[in-house]
Amino acid sequence: MRIGVLTSGGDAPGMNAAIRAVVRTALYYGHDVYGIKNGYRGLIENDMVLLLHDDVSGGLTKGGTFLGTARVENFQEQDIREIAYRNLQKRKINALIVIGGDGSYRGAMALAEMGVKVVCIPGTIDNDLGGTDKTIGFNTALNTIVEAIDKLRDTSSSHQRCSIIETMGRKAGDLALYSGLCSGAEFIITNDHPVDKNYLINTLSAWQKEGRRQAIIVVTEHMFDVYELAKEISEKSGFSTRATVLGYIQRGGTPVPEDRILATQLGSYAVTLVNEGIYGVGVGIRNNKLVHNNLEDILNDLEQHLDLYDLISKVS
Ligand code: ADP
Repeated sequence: MRIGVLTSGGDAPGMNAAIRAVVRTALYYGHDVYGIKNGYRGLIENDMVLLLHDDVSGGLTKGGTFLGTARVENFQEQDIREIAYRNLQKRKINALIVIGGDGSYRGAMALAEMGVKVVCIPGTIDNDLGGTDKTIGFNTALNTIVEAIDKLRDTSSSHQRCSIIETMGRKAGDLALYSGLCSGAEFIITNDHPVDKNYLINTLSAWQKEGRRQAIIVVTEHMFDVYELAKEISEKSGFSTRATVLGYIQRGGTPVPEDRILATQLGSYAVTLVNEGIYGVGVGIRNNKLVHNNLEDILNDLEQHLDLYDLISKVS
C-alpha cells in the first residue's frame, strides 16, 4: 500500500514522533509512506515526498513538525478538495493519516465522505478532542506552563504581587486547569468554570489587607483582555497585579516522555488500523487502552475530560 501522512492546524510537540511511528510501522508491514508538506496545502499542491526509515531519525526528540503545517481556509470548498483527491489518486496513495486538531479532523471527514480512506491522530496541545484521554502535545505544553508559573510565583512573592497567566486552549480549559492544579493557583478561570469579577476583586482586596504576599490566577485565552483585567484588579483591590500571556512558547519545545510514548503508540496504532482495512476513524487512548472511534462520533463527543475542579476545591 501507499500511505500518505500529514500534520495540520496548530503544531504540537510530539507530531514528529507520531510521523516517525507511522513511517517505521508502515515499513514494518511493507507499505510505502509519502509525507505531505504543510497540511492540506501539500495535498492541493501535490507537494509530497517518499519517506524512508532514516528520514524520520531523531523525530522523537524534536518539537514542531518537519513536514510543516498550515491553516488552509479554502479546504472547506468542495472544488479545492477535488484537486486534493485527484492528487492522491495520481500518486496512487490508498490511505491517508492526518495528525491534527478538530479542524483537521473536519477536513479529514470531508475527504472520507469523498471516498478517501483516512485515519486521524489527535495532535494538539489543547486536549480538546473526543475519543481520547490525552492529545499529543498536551503534556509538553503543560510542562512549559507549569515551569513558567513557578517562575512567576517566585517574583510575585518577592514583590507582593498578583500574577495573571493566560494559557492557550481555545475554548478548552484543560491547560489552565491542570497547570493551575500543578502550581497551586489561587484562581483558575476557564469557560466551564468562569468566575464573578466582583468576587475576584473583593477576595484579592481582602487578601491584600491581610498582607498576603502573592496570588496566582490562571485563565484560558479569549476570556478576558488580561492586561485590562490586571489594571482593573490593581485599581479596585489595591493588590498590585501583572498579566503574562504565555503565547506561542506553549507550542514549542522538546516533547516530554509522555508525549513521545503517546505519539509512538498512536502513530503505530493508526498504521495497524490501515493495515487491517479500518478507516474513517480517529485513534486515541482511553483508560490506558488504544481505541478508535468514528470521526463523526469524535467530533460530536461532548464528554468532558477528567474534571479536576472538585479535587482542586478540596486541596486549595
Ligand atoms: P486544528 O486542526 O489544530 O484544529 P484548524 O482548525 O485551523 O486547526 O484546522 C486545520 C485545517 O483543517 C484548516 O486550515 C482547514 O484546512 C481544515 N479544516 C478545518 N475545518 C474544516 C472543514 N469544516 N472542512 C474542511 N476542512 C476543514
